[in-house]
Amino acid sequence: MHILVVNCGSSSLKFQLIALPSERVAAKGLVERIGQAVNAQFRYTAGERDFPKKAVKAPDHSAAIQQVITALVEGETAVLKAKSDIVAFGHRVVHGGEQFSDSQLIDAPVMKAIKQCCELAPLHNPANLAGICACQEALPGVPNVAVFDTAFHQTMQPHAFHYALPPRYYEKLHIRRYGFHGTSHKYVTHKFAEVQKKTPDEVNLITCHLGNGSSLAAVQNGRSVDTSMGFTPLQGVIMGTRSGDIDPAVVFYLIEQGGMTVDAVNDLLNKKSGLLGFSGVSSDMRDILAAVDAGNERAALALNMCAYGIAKYVGAYHAILPRTDAIVFTAGIGENSGPVRAAVCAHLAGIGVALDDGRNMAHRGIGPVSSPSSRIPVWVIPTNEELMIARETYNLMQARP
Ligand code: AMP
Repeated sequence: MHILVVNCGSSSLKFQLIALPSERVAAKGLVERIGQAVNAQFRYTAGERDFPKKAVKAPDHSAAIQQVITALVEGETAVLKAKSDIVAFGHRVVHGGEQFSDSQLIDAPVMKAIKQCCELAPLHNPANLAGICACQEALPGVPNVAVFDTAFHQTMQPHAFHYALPPRYYEKLHIRRYGFHGTSHKYVTHKFAEVQKKTPDEVNLITCHLGNGSSLAAVQNGRSVDTSMGFTPLQGVIMGTRSGDIDPAVVFYLIEQGGMTVDAVNDLLNKKSGLLGFSGVSSDMRDILAAVDAGNERAALALNMCAYGIAKYVGAYHAILPRTDAIVFTAGIGENSGPVRAAVCAHLAGIGVALDDGRNMAHRGIGPVSSPSSRIPVWVIPTNEELMIARETYNLMQARP
């Protein structure tokens, strides 16, 4: 059975066609610059074969998905005999609010609830909805499944998800910690359990998703009990362009004393802060590391601030978990950067974390990078959100009457 996994941004559509249950990726790619004055760009790979990037007409997400489906079934890019070989679409949906603690087969009530969550994620959910509508229009009758970034964290208890505000702010405005990257935290949790020949409910982990956006989760018996992102992805550790945790009074000060508008502060904290803002070098960790090597002290301080903040969350989560089976690093930075893992773990000697330096720096793929003497094993597990979305979609398809 082929499932088309779709991840829509406001001007982009990422996709993977995955065969289940074999989990083979038949094709994948990206349509960028959707709805812009210039032509959209279409990147497409079938199996191991990369096709040259080409310009296509994609004034909206419907046109973009048509381009993708045509590529999947026609001409030299074809990997399917017919459109009807696509048995379901699996969609990444950023915000499921409190309504969804699991993936959902999309029907009218689910669509309505996703629309309601637009006010909580105004930059993301409208694009996710546009993708769902485009797929419904392209292949009527083919089921669509929503997999929410927030769902995995819905197991957090009230003492972990509430902010200390009067109740009406939660009741009327739904202000609470939601957490994001749930699909990734869940994937690495399940993968760790699988390689340990355990079930997910037998593992306790601290999962560190460190990418362009970063978050940590405390996972107890396979379920999220706490996470570093909050009401929005701005809370938590230092990220590429986001400040992460900051005294909220700084916002009032910037407006009242700094003469900034609300929009300007929003832009500052989300897009001009973090590694980029503090170092003045880049939001990309590879550039930060290169600048550190070249002797840039500001970049070195940015790296250490980032690593120190991550280590503080690890320490906090270790304290609240009854047992920590492993600290797991994942996503672009977590998977690929031995120096960042080393910088984080340097602040964790107090709880007995010790890396195997050679192994950590040379590591590729999945496996441990800690020394045998480490009191808590440290693992690297490459994430695969698309595969997780395909699996969730497949499971819902199998469960249908
Ligand atoms: P993601 O959001 O998971 O795609 O991660 C993207 C980020 O991973 C990029 O912005 C880079 O900062 C980072 N990254 C990717 N490869 C490396 C690497 N080899 N070393 C350090 N950072 C990396």
